[in-house]
Amino acid sequence: MKEIAAGFERFRREAFPPRAELFRRLATSHTPNALFIGCSDARVVPELITQREPGELFVIRTAGNLVPPYGQDADGIAASIEYAVNALGVADIIVCGHSACGAMTALATGTDMSALPATATWLRHADASRALLDAAPAAEDRVSALVRSNVRAQLANLRTHPSVVRALARHEVALHGWVYDIGSGRIETVDAETGAAAPLTV
Ligand code: ZN
Repeated sequence: MKEIAAGFERFRREAFPPRAELFRRLATSHTPNALFIGCSDARVVPELITQREPGELFVIRTAGNLVPPYGQDADGIAASIEYAVNALGVADIIVCGHSACGAMTALATGTDMSALPATATWLRHADASRALLDAAPAAEDRVSALVRSNVRAQLANLRTHPSVVRALARHEVALHGWVYDIGSGRIETVDAETGAAAPLTV
């Protein structure tokens, strides 16, 4: 905890002053142009890997970057998606999976989840991700394949949210699937329909 408080001190001393004008503007204005849905994993930092400043990315992070489909009981994730699309008018939504994802590893390897009942229930939102997965031989290949199919499945879940459906119909939003590789810093795009992967290009 000491390191975290010391980090805040360093932020105030070194990071805040050169951005004072930006923060002054942000104090009364919130106009991010993209919604980034990533994993809670500490190694995947949306603003760092996309080099965004405060105010530029609206972020939702969940275990396994899972997006529950829209349902009767609106949760915090549904509310955040709706707010980003309807109120903030984001032009792009990125669902970003990552290498060595603990959630996907647990599912791909059939880890015993009896000590993690809430996690086990939450991971049911990846049932379709598993169903999309073709048989892959080695365990490591299976995790990578599941990370990709999970991005596709969560993009499909995103399309069940009325705000997203409406914005897509009006061509006001575009959906993107990404997989970030922790060890190399590379990002691959994942085609929502075919699952084809390609390096992210500008
Ligand atoms: Zn993860």
